[in-house]
Amino acid sequence: MLSAQRGLTCLLALALAGASISACATQSGQGEIGPDDNAPFADDGKADDPSAPAYSNSRRDIISTSLDVNLATRHATADVRVATSTSRGMTFEAQGLNVTGVHSAAGAELEHAVSGGKLYVNVPGGRWPTNIVVDYTFDVQHENNGWLGASTVTWPYFCGNLFPCRSATRDGSAFALNLTGVPSGQTAIYPSTIDEEAPAYMLAWAVGNYECQSLGTTDAGTDLKVCWLPRGKTAALAGTAHLVDVFNWYETNLGPYMFGSDVGAVSVNWGESGAGGMEHHPYWHVDDASMASEETQAHEAAHGWYGDGVRIACWEDFVLSEGTVTYLAAHALGEVAGDELEEATWASYQEDLDYALENEEHTNAWPQGCGQIDLLNDHYFTMIPYIKGAMFYRSLAREIGEEALDGVLATFYQSHAGQAMHMQDMLSTIETETGFDPTNLARHWLRNSGDPQ
Ligand SMILES: [Zn+2]
Repeated sequence: MLSAQRGLTCLLALALAGASISACATQSGQGEIGPDDNAPFADDGKADDPSAPAYSNSRRDIISTSLDVNLATRHATADVRVATSTSRGMTFEAQGLNVTGVHSAAGAELEHAVSGGKLYVNVPGGRWPTNIVVDYTFDVQHENNGWLGASTVTWPYFCGNLFPCRSATRDGSAFALNLTGVPSGQTAIYPSTIDEEAPAYMLAWAVGNYECQSLGTTDAGTDLKVCWLPRGKTAALAGTAHLVDVFNWYETNLGPYMFGSDVGAVSVNWGESGAGGMEHHPYWHVDDASMASEETQAHEAAHGWYGDGVRIACWEDFVLSEGTVTYLAAHALGEVAGDELEEATWASYQEDLDYALENEEHTNAWPQGCGQIDLLNDHYFTMIPYIKGAMFYRSLAREIGEEALDGVLATFYQSHAGQAMHMQDMLSTIETETGFDPTNLARHWLRNSGDPQ
């Protein structure tokens, strides 16, 4: 996610969405898991819901989610594969769904209940892993929190307005998607499959009068393209001028891309106040207002490695996603397009930071704990983690060298792609790989002990 224009535009829209659906706010996850813990994890509070059925205290993990969506009728079927465990049920977020049926892969109806925005499903016999098939309809949403009529946004925890899901980023899922009912003459842009585990908010689609153009192929064989809406071609080509080189730099210096060999930038319109982009890999979305920004394009592309590729374990670890890609965007643009663009990017970051330090309630980029903050309603979704995170890495590069830092980011990615990690894990990797103890830099830039002036 990138909210441009000093966090005022997209940030505002998303903050309004959070406020209006405050019941969803606590779904961002409670409780901590170890970074390598692949076992089914503690659920996020459903068992405390007094209205929940007795089988609601499930401990579950989604393996894959296959969606068939008819855009004309807004009827959909989700076939969700759920991991092995010992209890009887499964809980999904489903706050915006009208569930019309739940059955097994073999067609047997499954006992279920919808309560408090959750879908509880009983699976008799407890044979796991198993597939749970949910038929439902969904509504058009208006606050960047679901199907917006031309594209989808479910970040950070609105996937339950679009499909039965678990929004906690530690629960990754593979995906398959099939769209029907696309208006005639329009094009739907979406991945038919995502084979590796990704956060629920990564899945998206966009529908419109799109034109696309190939941008080229990286050394690893990844084809890049850009797609724009009417009158958007000039901006789209400007913003993606170095995108093949940037993507190639990420693949070469960080490691293989996880989400397919056909990728690209898709222009969307998030309304008059919209700006920035969203990491809907492999076809990330960028608001038309930001489509010409090379920094926005490089930022969203980098989320294929950090944020989507390596997921964050808790929303408190947001800086591991946003700080890392904000650094990578400036650094990679400098490597492939020259110092002038990199310096302009850092100057723009500094303006964002100055604004944020003046105006934001929190200036701490890395809140302590796990599952205790609500990113939107507690006002932690600001430019602070983006820019302070990037400046932490730039300060680190000055200590250990840019190439050594590239090596750390590569090691971390290659060790943890497909996993959910903490920012603390990154600090540990820095010290293990380089011998440099980053504690003081982290305290200065991330933990609020004296804001930079
Ligand atoms: Zn971002």
